[in-house]
Amino acid sequence: MEHFNVALDGPSGSGKSTAAKAVSGKLNILYLDTGAMYRATALKAIKCGVDCLDEEGVKKFIDDIDIKIEYRDGSQHTLLDGEDVSLKIRENHVSMKASDISSLKCVRLKMVELQRKIASEMSCVLDGRDIGSFVLPDAKFKFYITADADVRARRRQKELAERGQTVDFETLKKEIEQRDYNDSHREFAPLKRADDAILIDTSDMSAEEVAEKILGVIGASNVL
Ligand code: C5P
Repeated sequence: MEHFNVALDGPSGSGKSTAAKAVSGKLNILYLDTGAMYRATALKAIKCGVDCLDEEGVKKFIDDIDIKIEYRDGSQHTLLDGEDVSLKIRENHVSMKASDISSLKCVRLKMVELQRKIASEMSCVLDGRDIGSFVLPDAKFKFYITADADVRARRRQKELAERGQTVDFETLKKEIEQRDYNDSHREFAPLKRADDAILIDTSDMSAEEVAEKILGVIGASNVL
């Protein structure tokens, strides 16, 4: 099997990470959740008492930030300063902070460097906002995954409930729309569909159907 990368971009709750897990599992290649890196960076800022939009404050720690991605039992673990923060970064209050800090150019440059390094070393499925448009413009496969805001907020509510967090639907929908706006309007490497990315609207699709669609496109090429 030749080396290749699959870029899955799109807004929050569109089903990217579920699809990325299924596709990478089926192809037996790595899944890199790039959102986790921005979430860990936000957590670092919170720990340091630095506002996530304070570029000068963030610059003080970003060059030496210690984020490691490890894989155990087939799932990604995100380590910050040696501590496994995989669960902490999923708390709802970290989502908006991650969106804030991801708008800073110094943060994106650092994360993109890490992502490109991993993607150059092995075949992987990466999910994010700017993978196909900025991080890996030459990725062999690019998909832009989207869904209605209502559907995305419901999915997010269910995901949080499964982790024991209760957040009401309207609050989540507002937060999702705010993050969509922030992510697609930031100056540097915004959320954007790459011109050559295949669009998949998952509003009326099951997780299995999304994965099948992606695998169908990859299978139809001759990389496998
Ligand atoms: O995908 P997830 O919701 O975990 O991402 C959290 C935040 O990180 C997003 O709202 C977005 O602002 C940021 N992000 C990004 N670029 C990526 C992945 C995530 O800006 N490649």
